Amino acid sequence: MTERGCLGRIDSVYCGSGVDGPGLRCVVFFSGCNLRCPFCHNPETLYKEGTLSDVDGLIERLRRYRGYFRRGGVTLSGGEPFLQKEFSLALANSLRTEGIRVCFETNGHIADPELIAAGDLVCDIKNQQTKDLTAYRRFFEECVRQNKTPRITNVLVPGVNDEEESLHELARLVRSFFPEEKIHFLPFRKLCEEKYQALGIEFPYRSIREAEEADIVRAEVLLKGAK
Ligand code: SF4
Repeated sequence: MTERGCLGRIDSVYCGSGVDGPGLRCVVFFSGCNLRCPFCHNPETLYKEGTLSDVDGLIERLRRYRGYFRRGGVTLSGGEPFLQKEFSLALANSLRTEGIRVCFETNGHIADPELIAAGDLVCDIKNQQTKDLTAYRRFFEECVRQNKTPRITNVLVPGVNDEEESLHELARLVRSFFPEEKIHFLPFRKLCEEKYQALGIEFPYRSIREAEEADIVRAEVLLKGAK
């Protein structure tokens, strides 16, 4: 099979994002993920099989939006795009051949050198269920080896990962690899609740309150004070 005939499973394509990488983006949501975060905003990518798509067909579809994302690019998100290595690489390579910038949104648990090299990176640190951040060390080590700095995000969940100790640990981890890099907090939201209902699945964080602007400000202050 040629690279452009390579097949992968995707959930959907969305054109119109200003938050999934630099500039305006088209986002390809991959199906499947190696994690099961209880706040996951895209449960349909975890529990549905997705549509089998080939690289050529997807590129054809994305070309239609080219005027829109001219100053941004295409983001491969999900789900976890690094789980479908062949397909991700084939898609990223083909897009770049057409002069389109590619960004991966990843959970940072798959420290694959080829994938890390294949585009810009947004890494969302999942410290809500576990304090073991070893996976990120491996991922960041590879980024540093390649002289790449990922944009780092973290979903701030009130009462779950916003206590001082957790934030200081996060700050220490990131600073040890990228001393100048900011951590971008994403407020926990429950807009995805309807998706869980439609899938017949209980939303695990249903009873947790959403994060407010004040929570973000507080977390940023605590982060600055980390030693
Ligand atoms: S890593 Fe992302 S897509 Fe996977 S379960 Fe967590 S939030 Fe959902």
